[in-house]
Amino acid sequence: MSDIDEKKDALIATARRCFDLRLQTNSGGNLSVRLDSQDAILIKPSGVGFNECGRDNLQIVNMDGGIEPSPHRPSKDLGFHLGLYRARADIRAIVHCHSPWATGYACAGLEIPCLTVQSIEKMGRLPLIPLAPGGGPQTEREINPVFADPGIVAAVLANHGTIGVGPSLMSAQYLAEIIEETAHIAYLRDALASIHGKRGDGQSGFTKTAEAGMA
Ligand SMILES: [Zn+2]
Repeated sequence: MSDIDEKKDALIATARRCFDLRLQTNSGGNLSVRLDSQDAILIKPSGVGFNECGRDNLQIVNMDGGIEPSPHRPSKDLGFHLGLYRARADIRAIVHCHSPWATGYACAGLEIPCLTVQSIEKMGRLPLIPLAPGGGPQTEREINPVFADPGIVAAVLANHGTIGVGPSLMSAQYLAEIIEETAHIAYLRDALASIHGKRGDGQSGFTKTAEAGMA
């Protein structure tokens, strides 16, 4: 049985959650999921808000780039979505948004430090991917090499936004939320350190190895 309607409903619910959490307003950002029933993905088209996704406006795109007939324009970021799915079989969903705390770091040219136990366990680190040569938005040429490391599940695009990938839409969405929370916490840590005359130095002392030692 086709999984298309089931995946459409999951994508619609994930997009709504992202919108409700204010991780993505207006019609920016995009999200996609790999289909099980055919060698294709389901993706939000360009110009459709996260709160406007419906069964009738999501697009099916074959892994070779062919788009099933649709009145909508394809996502500007379709290239990097396909590139990530082609490169890594473990990636089955992608959430890309322009959440404000993380994008603030991205615009300042700062890598968001993973400081909390959860962010280190879930992400490890958040590479900052520079703009394309000439200052254009990142494409698969800039993004794919970073995700060639199978340990990378999340990244931040300079002057742009965030990417979370995972085995399901919910796991990719959780990463979108953890990235934003991590940026917010890092900002608060630095502000509090400054107020109290302390130096907020880069990273946390916590490591996965240290956690294993405590068990
Ligand atoms: Zn974007």
